[in-house]
Amino acid sequence: MPAIPFPKKKVPRKVAVEELAILEQAYPNPVTALEYRSEYELLVAVILSAQCTDARVNMTTPKLFAKYPTPEKLARARQTDVETIIKSCGFFRMKAKNIIACARDLVERFGGTVPREREALESLAGVGRKTASVVMAAAFREAALAVDTHVFRVAHRLGLTLGKTPRQVEEDVTALVPADKWGDATHWLILHGRAVCKAPTPKCPQCPVNHICPTPAIIAKRITRKAKG
Ligand code: SF4
Repeated sequence: MPAIPFPKKKVPRKVAVEELAILEQAYPNPVTALEYRSEYELLVAVILSAQCTDARVNMTTPKLFAKYPTPEKLARARQTDVETIIKSCGFFRMKAKNIIACARDLVERFGGTVPREREALESLAGVGRKTASVVMAAAFREAALAVDTHVFRVAHRLGLTLGKTPRQVEEDVTALVPADKWGDATHWLILHGRAVCKAPTPKCPQCPVNHICPTPAIIAKRITRKAKG
């Protein structure tokens, strides 16, 4: 069955705020599933998590950080050695290259510490806006909302945004939540996307916002149309 189309209209602001309040209640522990002991480990784990599950990253990083416990050690690593350790995370050649280059940037430009400002984070090798946002929110409690595939999909299905790009979705969702909850809101949407509002088929009957979310009506209309042939 083709993907469920996103709503063509945003829900009224009052409804959007209520949807997010319900998700806040449903996910009272909004933290990343990535395991880390320092800002350096978090940054590397987030880079590795692109196109990969957090569980897989968590299986990989203990060995990686046992061998390269600091940016200084990783900056001097041989790429093939890193590739061997991170192979199961996918895109391992590119990721190995990126995390070594990122470690070099940390050592050469930031004294081996992870910066907390967005501009500095995004200047590191392999770090884009989404990775920077995750690190800012999780490591430094800075106001930042990261838009990954779950946040993009769930925000659309809830009618919070009509944004075509992650940046537009970020702008729409951050306008609905106080800045000190942007990091938490990232996880409300990610956790909901993983557990209930799944791709390609959401579990709407089990969803705590199904009474105000616009997508169940879209699904019902499709089923009726299909039944009529
Ligand atoms: S009602 Fe369905 S589409 Fe809407 S958020 Fe819940 S699971 Fe997703």
